[in-house]
Amino acid sequence: MWAQRKWTQRDAAVVWHGFTDMTAYLDHCPVVVERAEGHDLIDTEGRRYLDAISSVWLNTMGHRVPELDEAVRDQLDRVAHSTMLGNGNRVVVELAEALAEVVPVAGPHFLFASDGASAVEQALKLAFQFWALQGVRGRTSYLAFGGAYHGDTVGAMSLGADDGFGAALFDPLRFPVVRAPGYDDPSCFDVAARLVDTNAGRLAAVVVEPLVQGAAGMQLAPADGYDALADACRAAGVLLIHDEVAVGFGRTGTLFATEQLGRRVRPDLLCLGKGLTGGYLPMAVTVASARVFEGFAGTPFAHGHSYGGNALAAAVALRHLRLLGERDVLTNVAARSAQLSARLAERVAPLAGVGGIRVKGLMCGVDVAAGTGRATCDRAVAAGVLLRPIGDTVIVVPPLTITATEIERIVDVLAAAIGDRPGRPVQSAITDHPSGPEG
Ligand SMILES: *Cc1c(COP(=O)(O)O)cnc(C)c1O
Repeated sequence: MWAQRKWTQRDAAVVWHGFTDMTAYLDHCPVVVERAEGHDLIDTEGRRYLDAISSVWLNTMGHRVPELDEAVRDQLDRVAHSTMLGNGNRVVVELAEALAEVVPVAGPHFLFASDGASAVEQALKLAFQFWALQGVRGRTSYLAFGGAYHGDTVGAMSLGADDGFGAALFDPLRFPVVRAPGYDDPSCFDVAARLVDTNAGRLAAVVVEPLVQGAAGMQLAPADGYDALADACRAAGVLLIHDEVAVGFGRTGTLFATEQLGRRVRPDLLCLGKGLTGGYLPMAVTVASARVFEGFAGTPFAHGHSYGGNALAAAVALRHLRLLGERDVLTNVAARSAQLSARLAERVAPLAGVGGIRVKGLMCGVDVAAGTGRATCDRAVAAGVLLRPIGDTVIVVPPLTITATEIERIVDVLAAAIGDRPGRPVQSAITDHPSGPEG
């Protein structure tokens, strides 16, 4: 264990990890990754861990994918980065053209950034400036949902749940929003639609996570829930922002989760990140509809990130988008999702302390007994399957190319980590909204 201890100690001595109590960091057997192969991460001691959280929901097709590695190397021979402020870059044009063919946004323009939170900030400021440019006064607020998570910058955090990550501490910095209930309340969309009606004159935009609130522990919403809200937004002229940072690029069974919603539900602004580069490089994008873009005629948008539209990231994102189709990855997501649901129902739902199990595509949350989330994941990591909890929900978000054998292994290891004490009956423990456009 010497080499591993040496690296974890060197790590703890100089690196500050986000959302991590650094005094307890070494107690939870952190994995210091040195390299990777396919779906496995390999630590400084040569131990392998199945990356069952996709490096926190980024990775889509595994690590060191030959085609993606090559895309980065090829782009290195051209240029690594050049600015998007007032100038362009060929591979970014090619990426935007390719994305324009597939995003669920009418007449799209692409404003690139590096992180999901920045894509959300851009959407908020675009909506705000849009109304200012229309000469409309007072449309300066946003409606967001309970349980929401949109990133950790101050604007994105203001949209986030009032009881969310650090929200209480930073409350004095957060701007107030109109708050609808969370997805765990079946009336949340009706309430949200009513709130749009009654607050129409002061709302710039409504911000939603289509189908799944990931950071809320994988809370699911029915696809037809969004119709009434989208209708209310249209009637009131309020902009609709879809945050697909987590659910985009195949996670829920379609390229974008919005495709599974009713045809009337199309965002004015769409935020993408995480899986955009297959988990390779930091890149995010805010996609603006023609309605928003045209509202800016003659005026610059007062915002721009230095590394937005990075050429290396664009090259890998472009190759990744094509590779998702070439490898028919969505078919695998549907099959593995069904398998994951079935195995969890069989092997995990009956265990003592297990509450809800929610699966949508390859996003999954398993509620374990109060106070056991962390220890359960520590045991899974020790058994070679990298899992991380959010509170007492164990999050399972494997790469989209995960195999049937690997799904069996994840469920076996999770069941063993929870502990083999049979408990409550299987029925009703599992919620599974079928994936796919017809789902
Ligand atoms: C992760 C996430 C973000 C923030 O993305 P970062 O790249 O971590 O800044 C925003 N919205 C949703 C829904 C997310 O899951």
